[in-house]
Amino acid sequence: MSTDYRDFTIATIGSHSALQILRGAKDEGFRTLAICQEGRELPYKSYKVADEIISLGSLSDFPKIQDQLREKNAIVIPHGSFFGAMDLETMQQLKIMYYGNKNILPWEFDRTRQRSWLSRAGLHLPKIFESPEDIDRPVIIKFFGAGGGKGFFLARNPEEFKQKIAAHPGQSYVIQEYVIGAPVYIHYFYSSLTGELEIMSFDKRYESNVDAIGRVAAKDQLDLGLETSYNIMGNVPIVVRESLLPEMFQMGQAVIDASQQLEQHGLFGPFCLETIVTPDLKFSVFEISARIVAGTNPFINGTPYTWLRYNEPMSTGRRIAREIKHAITQEQLKKVLVNDHH
Ligand code: ATP
Repeated sequence: MSTDYRDFTIATIGSHSALQILRGAKDEGFRTLAICQEGRELPYKSYKVADEIISLGSLSDFPKIQDQLREKNAIVIPHGSFFGAMDLETMQQLKIMYYGNKNILPWEFDRTRQRSWLSRAGLHLPKIFESPEDIDRPVIIKFFGAGGGKGFFLARNPEEFKQKIAAHPGQSYVIQEYVIGAPVYIHYFYSSLTGELEIMSFDKRYESNVDAIGRVAAKDQLDLGLETSYNIMGNVPIVVRESLLPEMFQMGQAVIDASQQLEQHGLFGPFCLETIVTPDLKFSVFEISARIVAGTNPFINGTPYTWLRYNEPMSTGRRIAREIKHAITQEQLKKVLVNDHH
């Protein structure tokens, strides 16, 4: 395997966080490739982040271009849109250089396993109600594979739940305690080369219609019979109260430590804890994303936090490319490409 990073191409699907991944790779001196759904190439051309574009009639054809990817010595960076294009098994079967640890994926995808991972890390999680009869506080009902929180609804008791669930026949869901507080999504990066954990940035989401409901008076909200929905359309940067940082680092490290007990090599690279901070400043963690999240997109030019460590623009996308570059030059690629799934 070459120790010259210029012999490699950084590739990803043209969606989600591809702009910063590809731009970051270019900034680190890599060649770049975007794999786009036909008709959706323009942003990657216009922003000049892709040296090459492969267009597919359907993104589900991604496995068919594996030969091409191997010929280009492409290292593929996964992000949320991969999981819309392919199911978990297809992803795991790919015979290409995949950035990350494939063995962690099932721990993220299975909600029960994800909960046991986060509990093992000692994090506080919102309560799950196994039976609707037990609902004794505000809950949020989340549908599986909803994609951006579409259709999620709130209920306060079993009656309200039954009335509202009737509109969703046959859909599988989870009933989770609705935690009142401030949502904060924490963007981490853990280096499997140095064993160091960084916090890159924070965001909150901008969702339709829940973030617009406050724009109409409470009386109108009632008159209009509004139902909240959580369809994400963008992300808003946050800088956190500095005294919260020690606990945030500790939470990230606990997640990494727990992952290493679950699977060899554990979780590394970018990941995100999705939390609600309650009025007594306690974190309630409702989800983990074990890869780059779109909430890092506002920060292509870096964040106040990355500025403290790097005296140059450092997005999460660029941080990934830098890690891969170090891995290549130090002959440690195996440490960032854990593809031997069992
Ligand atoms: P993704 O899988 O992309 O992270 P999703 O579609 O599973 O998203 P969530 O992120 O779980 O959706 O939740 C959607 C919205 O509901 C977000 O605004 C989130 O802040 C809010 N939310 C989720 N769980 C809770 C909870 N337990 N208490 C309060 N708010 C919550």
